Order: sequence, then structure tokens, then C-alpha cells
Amino acid sequence: MGKPTGFKEIKREIPTDRAPLERIKDWNEFHHHMPEAKLQEQGARCMDCGIPFCHSGSLLAGMASGCPINNLIPEWNDLVYRGLWREALDRLHKTNNFPEFTGRVCPAPCEGSCVLGINTPAVTIKNIEQSIIDKGFEEGWVVAEAPAVRTGKKVAVVGSGPAGLSAAAQLNKAGHLVTVFERADRIGGLLMYGIPNPKLDKKIVQRRVDLLTKEGVTFVVNTEVGKNYATEKLLKEFDAVVLCGGATKPRDLTIPGRELKGIHFAMEFLQGNTQSVLNGKPTENYISAKDKHVIVIGGGDTGTDCVGTSMRHGCKSLIQLEILPKPPEARASDNPWPQWPKVYKLDYGQEEAAAMFGADPRKYLVTAKRFVGDEKGQVKAIEIVNIEWQKDAQGRFAPKEVAGSEKTLPAERVFLAMGFLGPEDKMLKDLGVERDERSNVKADHGKYTTSLKGVFAAGDMRRGQSLIVWAINEGRGAARAVDQYLMGYTDLP
Ligand SMILES: Cc1cc2nc3c(=O)[nH]c(=O)nc-3n(C[C@H](O)[C@H](O)[C@H](O)COP(=O)(O)OP(=O)(O)OC[C@H]3O[C@@H](n4cnc5c(N)ncnc54)[C@H](O)[C@@H]3O)c2cc1C
Ligand code: SF4
Repeated sequence: MGKPTGFKEIKREIPTDRAPLERIKDWNEFHHHMPEAKLQEQGARCMDCGIPFCHSGSLLAGMASGCPINNLIPEWNDLVYRGLWREALDRLHKTNNFPEFTGRVCPAPCEGSCVLGINTPAVTIKNIEQSIIDKGFEEGWVVAEAPAVRTGKKVAVVGSGPAGLSAAAQLNKAGHLVTVFERADRIGGLLMYGIPNPKLDKKIVQRRVDLLTKEGVTFVVNTEVGKNYATEKLLKEFDAVVLCGGATKPRDLTIPGRELKGIHFAMEFLQGNTQSVLNGKPTENYISAKDKHVIVIGGGDTGTDCVGTSMRHGCKSLIQLEILPKPPEARASDNPWPQWPKVYKLDYGQEEAAAMFGADPRKYLVTAKRFVGDEKGQVKAIEIVNIEWQKDAQGRFAPKEVAGSEKTLPAERVFLAMGFLGPEDKMLKDLGVERDERSNVKADHGKYTTSLKGVFAAGDMRRGQSLIVWAINEGRGAARAVDQYLMGYTDLP
């Protein structure tokens, strides 16, 4: 702990963002960087607690409390305070293969469990993490490190999201020959085609993919295992397989009018958009929200990304529907520290919509009843109704419509962002791998072995739609399990 009185003297500060009405004119990242001296001061706020809950990564009330990859947070906070950036970078890479991703888009459960956060704003852990890795790249400290010795064992990783990439990085470090198969035309999974460019610039994703390529990982794009690459071939040609295909089957909304044109799953909108931004021209699957009345159904992160993307298209109006109540401004009594704080947050997309249209676009405690179309079969409106949460006969909370509260809103583009139901079936059916009751691949956290010998599963495909930091945790864990399986021992962390 560099400065024992730091937490008393220094106030929490995070970098400013670009102004909302300015940043919606482009697809660039919207956070500014902080000067180094300021970052060092922020590092000095860390109290180096006897029990640093911030790096515990346990599950409390079903949510992460502390960092799921056990980042050595107090250690690098202290090193940053003392200006020892290179040492901080080494400490950070011990637990995290990709701090440039988590430092930008992790929701930071570490900060929710920071001890300082009990009665004063938490240490700015996430921003310090991003600053360490950004400086590492600027200074040229992050370079490809190919393994000195190869084992000759061949491992296939299916899916190139954060789980697949971290599994590949670790297995390659252990000297195995790793091939990553990806059905999309670019590597990165939801880092590439889920999270929009303003939150995570795709050059940053590609920079890491290029490094992994230099280190010896082979990437194969436009190849869907189970479709244009047979699963039997996979099992025959590789000594072990890690399934990291994500959980991208979207939840649908089966109400009257669903078949109308202009109603899309969020991922169709987001993927087509990022592809078009990267290609420099609209692709075939591009969906435009320009000059349209937009409705986003679902109040989570995916919904927020649809809001931010619609704002950049220049939509005419925007409403985001959420079936749950508005969260409280401060922790409720049943959500104490160090649990993940379930509190109201104005995220980037809503901030932009508020700046343009005058208010947070979210409407809480509402549900959609039906879509209304025009004579060409194009959606033109949506009927919504207020709901209340009431206990049903079994004592479970269920939504109940409030009679007479129906309203009709203009809707020319509707984006469905109501979560995901689990992994897609084709490859898993072909493989005949066992599934759990939520349709994810059945494998225990920490073991990652599936019902098929030599086949492992990690990330959203095993745990359901989650977070990047959990995907990295699982990719690293699965790599350890594969290395143990192939070699009879493992030195991987
Ligand atoms: C819109 C959106 C925004 C999000 N924002 C955040 C955020 O801000 N912060 C955060 O922490 N988390 C966020 N998440 C969640 C996070 O992105 C995921 O939890 C994480 O990416 C899961 O990683 P993964 O590697 O398990 O799977 P994915 O990232 O889903 O990658 C799986 C990959 O496997 C490929 N694949 C699937 N089947 C096959 C096959 N048969 N053959 C070849 N390839 C295949 C897919 O094309 C995909 O590229 C967001 C999710 C979405 C949808
Ligand atoms: S990965 Fe996430 S939880 Fe872990 S230190 Fe970084 S921001 Fe915090």
C-alpha cells in the first residue's frame, strides 16, 4: 500500500466521456484517457485491505462479487501509484489474457465489492486496468511470445469469443498446436460482432488476434463446425476439442404481428451494423434505423447497445421497454455490500437518447401486446400495456396486466433484446454431447469435461449467456483441464 492516507485525501475520479451529441456522429470509442499523474493518485486510494473482496470472484445471490479471474488488484494499484507500470502490466497478465477487453467493457463486479465502497465511492479498478494495458501497448511492452517447445498435440477450439481466445492463448503457451474454428468472417465472437465499436474498438480485438497468430495459433474463419466442417473430422483430426460456441439462441416474442417486416433480433441489427462499419459500406444484412421510430424491447446490455447503435444511425424517436421495475438509486436493504449492486444506471446509449430526445428512453413495468402493420406488411406501431408483479398460486412473482393501461406507440424498427435461451443445437446434436436442463453443454465449472472423452466446454456454451470476464475464467480453466488430459500434468495457472 503506497499511500496509507490516500483513501482519505483523494476523491474517486474517472475519465470524462465525449459529449453524447458529439459522439453519436461517429463509431469511435467514447471514453477519454486520463493523465498518468491522475491515475497514480487514483491507485493511491486502494487500502490494500487484509481481505481484498475485490479479487475474490465468488458468487453471492447468483451474481459475481469481486473479480471472477482473481485479478491481483491491490498489487497493481500499488504499483501504478508508485509509477511501476511495467511491473503492474506483468502482474495483470498473470491472471488476465485480455485486460484491454475487460478494462473497457467489464461491468466491474470488483468495484461492487471494493471495501472502500461500503461508505464512499469505490476505487476506479476498471479504469486503472485499462490504463495499464493501454500503456503496455503504447510502450511496446506487449509482444508475441511463442512457446519454446511444442508438444505435438493438436487441439481444436470451436468459437473465437473470449472463452475460445483465452483457451487458445493458454494451450498455445503450453506448447500445443491450436486451431480455432469460427463460423463468422472475423475472429472475436461477441467481442467482434456483439459489443459495438464505440464501447470496444475492433482494432483492439484484431490487435490481440494478430498477436495470438504470431504466437502460433491458427485461426480458420467462415467455417461452421457441424455445417461446412464435419464433427467426425474434428474428433478424428485433433487430440482434444474445446467447445466455446457461445449461447446465442435469442429469446423470441410470440405476440400477434411478430411476422411483420421491420422486427429483428438485436444480434441481427448489431452484427450487420459492425460488419458494415468495418467493411466501410452497408452489407447485405445491414438494417438501417435512420429516420425511423425505434422500439427496443429489453432493458439489459444488449438493449443498450441497440439504443446506442440506433442513435448513431439517426433514428427519429426511441423507446426502450423493460418489464422489470426501475432499480433503486442506492442499494436496497436486501442487496448489501459486497453483493453486485443492483442500482439504477444511465448507460451510454440511454445517455445519448436523453441528450437527443430529452429523457431516459426506458419505460419500466411495461410489456408488448401486439405489433400493428401497414398494407405492405411493414410494422408501423406497437401496443404496450403496464404490468404489475403479483404472486401466483405457487407463490412465484408473475407479471399481471393493468387493465385499461394499453397505449400505442409508433414503431418502424423493433429490436428484440430479451436475452438468450442457450447454445445453438446443430453442432451439439451432431456430436451427441450431453446437455443440462438449460440446454447448455453439461460440464462442471472447474472441470470442463463433457460426456465425450477428450471434448471440453467453456464460456457461454457451458454456463449460458454471461460476461466476458467469466468467459476468460472458463477458457483458462478449460485449457488447464485439456493440458492435464493430454500430458498427465499441467503447469498452467
Ligand atoms: C450485444 C451484447 C453485448 C454484450 N456486452 C457485454 C459487455 O459490455 N460486457 C460483458 O462482460 N459482457 C457482455 N456481453 C456478454 C459477453 O459478450 C459474452 O458473455 C461473451 O462474449 C461469451 O464469450 P464466449 O467466448 O463464451 O462466446 P461468444 O463470444 O458468443 O463467442 C462464440 C463464438 O462461437 C462461434 N460459433 C458458434 N458455433 C460455432 C460452430 N459450430 N462453428 C464455428 N464457430 C461457432 C460464434 O460465431 C461466436 O463467434 C454482451 C453480449 C451481447 C450479446
Ligand atoms: S476483469 Fe472486471 S472484475 Fe476483474 S478487475 Fe477487471 S474490471 Fe474488475
